[in-house]
Amino acid sequence: MKAEIFSIGTELLMGELTDTNASWIASRLPPLGIQLQWMSIIGDSLDMLSEAFQRGLQRSDIIFTTGGLGPTQDDLTREAVAQALGETLTVQEEVVRGLEKYFQGRGMTMPSHNIKQAHLIPSAQFIRNRNGTAPGWWVESKGKIIVCMPGPPGEMHPIWDEEVAPRLREMVDEEVTVTRNIKTLGMSEAAIDEEISEFFGQENPYLGIYSKPDGIHLRVIARAKDEARARELIQPVEEAINQRLGPYIWGHDDETPEQSLGQALLEQGLSLATMESVTGGLLANSISEVPESCSYFKGGVVAFSKESMLAHGVPADILVRFGEASQETANAMASAARESSGADFGIGLAGVLGPAEQEGKAPGQIYIAIAADKEIREFQLRVPPRRLVIKRRAANTALTELRKMISAGVGAAR
Ligand code: AMP
Ligand code: MG
Repeated sequence: MKAEIFSIGTELLMGELTDTNASWIASRLPPLGIQLQWMSIIGDSLDMLSEAFQRGLQRSDIIFTTGGLGPTQDDLTREAVAQALGETLTVQEEVVRGLEKYFQGRGMTMPSHNIKQAHLIPSAQFIRNRNGTAPGWWVESKGKIIVCMPGPPGEMHPIWDEEVAPRLREMVDEEVTVTRNIKTLGMSEAAIDEEISEFFGQENPYLGIYSKPDGIHLRVIARAKDEARARELIQPVEEAINQRLGPYIWGHDDETPEQSLGQALLEQGLSLATMESVTGGLLANSISEVPESCSYFKGGVVAFSKESMLAHGVPADILVRFGEASQETANAMASAARESSGADFGIGLAGVLGPAEQEGKAPGQIYIAIAADKEIREFQLRVPPRRLVIKRRAANTALTELRKMISAGVGAAR
């Protein structure tokens, strides 16, 4: 079943209101076996709306709309559906009485515009709205369905959960969609593409590749009659990805770099300490986001100046010879963090945050060091010189590289 979503309202087009309804609905469609193909934002114009409904009815089996069901003149969803289907709106007396009661219950008389909300066309049925005056519409015409819901999320969400989702569940054949996310770091998108090229371009399972602040993600999406069968479709693709990209994989599904690393540290009974400059504390903050982090995170220093680096054990001659933004300094930071805390691993993170060059090095240059029992691993990156990008990429890389080292068996026991 092919679907589309209309988010209706000129305020959405003006950038005054962010469309959260469409993504909220979109995330609920795959488990129902409904394939979303389009999302549109449409202003409060009868012609534009009616044209959108006509096009939608040609290319989709079901259209979900939110917004435009209010009592005011610019709320035109009902009128547009009527126009697109060539049907006439008529007032439903029992609904008018329901609305009058709603207002009486609040000590008010019903404003005359609210009569709009009691109109229906022959193909439509009302959908009850417990939290507001605008009932939704469930429209069935010529094998197509239109579901109109009010815009306020506080009204739309319960209508979806209580009225719309149960009807959809009964209606659609039981196909489900299962997604498996595999997260990598250290290999380029092009290199990954080449390694597993034979899986791209297939419909089921579908393989997508996405570049994110914590690396390249691969998403395998399968559709089948039930979850077990969908997982069977995913399995051979995931196995091939594991075989070919194994050392670069650091996590799955919703896992964050800090969760994935935290899990590995917990399992091995290992601990960690950090000293960071460019990230300004983001590294320590990320690590401490994980509830269990108190059992493996010994602490972190934000050494944002030469003085602070010196005070926390970075040797003066290293700073004099190589500067603050250097691999040697990152290495000394990692060692100092590890030694002073007694942790199994120390992460050192230095670089240039910008906006100006530092010691002849460009903003976005990052140096990472991970100190273990018998070695120090070095990583250098050059990222776009925006503060947030530099911080995120540096912190995520440090976390995921350590995660990969632990998976590869680097488990420095003290
Ligand atoms: P409407 O039903 O068009 O009168 O919308 C009423 C209110 O619902 C708006 O003022 C917003 O607060 C909210 N709303 C409408 N559409 C959306 C949307 N797509 N995403 C989030 N909120 C919305
Ligand atoms: Mg509106």
